[in-house]
Amino acid sequence: MDYKDLANLIFPESKDISYYEEKYPKRNLKEGAIVTRFAPSPTGFVHIGGLYQSVIAKKLANQTGGVFFLRIEDTDQKREVENGVTGIVNALKDFAMEPDEGMISDTESKGEYGPYKQSERKEIYQAYAKYLIEQGKAYPCFCTPEEVEEIRTKQEAAKIRPGYYGVWAKCRNITVEEAIEKIKNGEKYIIRFKSPGREDRKIKHHDAIKGNVDFPENDQDIVIIKADGLPTYHFAHVVDDHLMRTTHVIRGDEWLSSVPLHLQLFHELGFKAPKYAHIAPIMKNDNGNKRKLSKRKDQEAAVSYYEEEGIPEEAVKEYLLNIANSNFENWRRANKEKSIDEFELQLNKMSVSGALFDMVKLLDIGKTVISRYTAEKVYEEAKKWAKKHDEELNKILENKEYALKVFGIERGNKKPRKDIAKWSDVKENIEYMYDDIFYSKQIEYPYQVINDKEKINRILELYIEKYYDDNDEKDTWFNKIKELAGEMGYAKEVKEFKENPGNYEAHVGDVSTVLRVALTGRTNTPDMYEIMKILGKERIKSRFEKAKFN
Ligand code: GLU
Repeated sequence: MDYKDLANLIFPESKDISYYEEKYPKRNLKEGAIVTRFAPSPTGFVHIGGLYQSVIAKKLANQTGGVFFLRIEDTDQKREVENGVTGIVNALKDFAMEPDEGMISDTESKGEYGPYKQSERKEIYQAYAKYLIEQGKAYPCFCTPEEVEEIRTKQEAAKIRPGYYGVWAKCRNITVEEAIEKIKNGEKYIIRFKSPGREDRKIKHHDAIKGNVDFPENDQDIVIIKADGLPTYHFAHVVDDHLMRTTHVIRGDEWLSSVPLHLQLFHELGFKAPKYAHIAPIMKNDNGNKRKLSKRKDQEAAVSYYEEEGIPEEAVKEYLLNIANSNFENWRRANKEKSIDEFELQLNKMSVSGALFDMVKLLDIGKTVISRYTAEKVYEEAKKWAKKHDEELNKILENKEYALKVFGIERGNKKPRKDIAKWSDVKENIEYMYDDIFYSKQIEYPYQVINDKEKINRILELYIEKYYDDNDEKDTWFNKIKELAGEMGYAKEVKEFKENPGNYEAHVGDVSTVLRVALTGRTNTPDMYEIMKILGKERIKSRFEKAKFN
């Protein structure tokens, strides 16, 4: 009896691997095209680090004419949650990151290299496990979990490397006859890889991000097929990335230390190994300590957070590219109007250690991104977000024509307004333009330099009676505020005020502030001329009435 008999006994139904090799041929892509993937487990949580990896993977695929696909790694069925796949698919959709191939809903996929859910590829893994058994490169292991635990305890007591390897690998030397007999007797088993490695030998690996790294060879006889017939991650990813013709495995650097094992598996299966690119995780500064963004402690670790806050997907992606390549910032400075799709990402410019997450920077990018939008686009996006997350804002935005005027203030010009970083900022930013909200609020008017009641009342009265006209152009409008400043005995020009500080109590800017505060209840707003144009004389007048002191 030989290995073939053993293989046939274990996997009687499996096809010959030549079937799969033909079914999934080499992809017909141009030289240099990168085929890569996002391969999450459906655990019910999409981490920002996963989105970061996807942004990088998709970009590299797109810019080389390659393929970016989504593969679901659900071989650990204990960790799976309901709707896990839908959550992942939707998260990619929310960020306009739809894959070219792979899962597109919980049950559907597109592309010729599927199935793209590992739990549906059981027979494929088994065919390759059988192939290894036939060659004596894998074997059934009959050790119970208790026995494996016992080995570990002994190793720990003796202070030697833990694991199932060398002399500790009890089942690797069982004869074929013995194994067949045990199986026929109904003994339980799993399948292990028979590692040809030696720990005292080194391998050299060139990682597309980390550069050259040396490792000891792998000598562990790892489990490739578990008791439930499903593969472990190590084995599954090797078979999948081979058959799906992945050229680059782009993944988190927690997998870097598994590279010796993975390269060995590729080699023993007779496959060409893909290139590996191990991405450093996004870090957080926690009171001076640098640590990974944590699912438990940090709300910004979940991609859902960005959607809930209404941070535009474009801003999040741009921010992630910022962390990915340090030259991005220069590129952006030189190409203010370009889409991030035009930036050429380079793996060898990725930072080797983890970048710190910077919310301030992200929101700043959000402001710039939104400042480039037309009023129409701001309206559509804000409305879409409000529908889901803020009923009050949704109501405010019902009158589209008026909302477009409000969002149009200081937009579409050379220096557009930059006060909205995320859709959850919108309400706070526009509500003073709505009378029902404005009048329903108790306002503490924050007057500044000019704060004398009489003078404020006088400014408001004079302005409406003598100076304001709905038909004025901006220059005339502003000149009239200067005139008003002059009539009040203040400096008509700031320059004049600065040259003779002793001569004046205030200047034209201070008069503007009084008008602005009375009009909106705040010191900081976009262009007051445009605000007044939208409100019109009657509404300005009644707002001044409300602001006046009795
Ligand atoms: N399922 C693995 C993970 O979520 C995938 C790693 C990989 O991209 O190969 O970490």
